Amino acid sequence: MKKLLQDAIRERPMLADGAMGTQLMLAGLEQGNCGEEWNVTRPGKVLAIQRRYAEAGSECILTNTFGGSRIMLSRHSFGDRVVEFNKAGVEIVRQAFDGRDGYIIGDIGPFGGLMEPYGDFTESQVRGAFEEQAGALVDAGVDAIIIETQTSFEELRLGIQAAQQAGARCIIGSMAYDVTLDGQTFRTMMGVDPERAAEFMEENGAHIVALNCGTGMDMVRSREAIERYKSVTSLPLMATPNAGQPKLVNMKVVYDETPEQMVKGLVPLLVSGANLVGACCGSTPEHISAFRKAMDEFLKSENLRAIGA
Ligand SMILES: [Zn+2]
Repeated sequence: MKKLLQDAIRERPMLADGAMGTQLMLAGLEQGNCGEEWNVTRPGKVLAIQRRYAEAGSECILTNTFGGSRIMLSRHSFGDRVVEFNKAGVEIVRQAFDGRDGYIIGDIGPFGGLMEPYGDFTESQVRGAFEEQAGALVDAGVDAIIIETQTSFEELRLGIQAAQQAGARCIIGSMAYDVTLDGQTFRTMMGVDPERAAEFMEENGAHIVALNCGTGMDMVRSREAIERYKSVTSLPLMATPNAGQPKLVNMKVVYDETPEQMVKGLVPLLVSGANLVGACCGSTPEHISAFRKAMDEFLKSENLRAIGA
């Protein structure tokens, strides 16, 4: 039987994939349109992106289901197609691996609003939406579920519980941090710092503690986050930073950190204890390919050191 992802990445670090959203836009998805619908209407486009990640060396690929909860899909009048879009998303990753040994990570992003008393959504609506999505992803055969780009404990807890309820064998909690204005530290929009996040995830039954996206969270800052996670938890750790800072060029958001720039931070990230590394917004198969090469060289030198060569 396939090893659990949380065990496999303890044995040796593994490579995840790069961005999906920004790649879909390059493939013609218009800003504000529903990317998850493409799992059904344009599966070939989604498959082409994920196949490039698999070919670049990604061993874990996230499903194209970031906005695949009922609450998110309702914004596009697709609220009743949760199961269909999520199942299709899992099937496309399976095809992208094309027989390779890979891990399919079911992606659950934020529900996109605020809960009472700050916003309009009740806890039970959010819980129901996450349970429905997690159930669809697990039924379709994912190896893990990631609750990602999270900023608050309330929402993260509901996501983790939904994944547990669905019977997910590996649950990843992933926070989005923003570097503070003075550059001194980073925390989520809702004020969560990394030590507390790691403790919270461990207490609530996550198997992997992660960070993704965020503002100003480059490879160097991600390393700092990994070190801070490591100071409080022994769970395996994951980091998927953005390809630099978003900039507005001709009314389009662009990320301009090249694979060459970004890969410089990879080995330090591994040395500080990241078990699973990928990249978030703005990254491309070329970034992942550069990561693959650097990671292979790192693993080779570690092996040589281990046998005393
Ligand atoms: Zn991102």
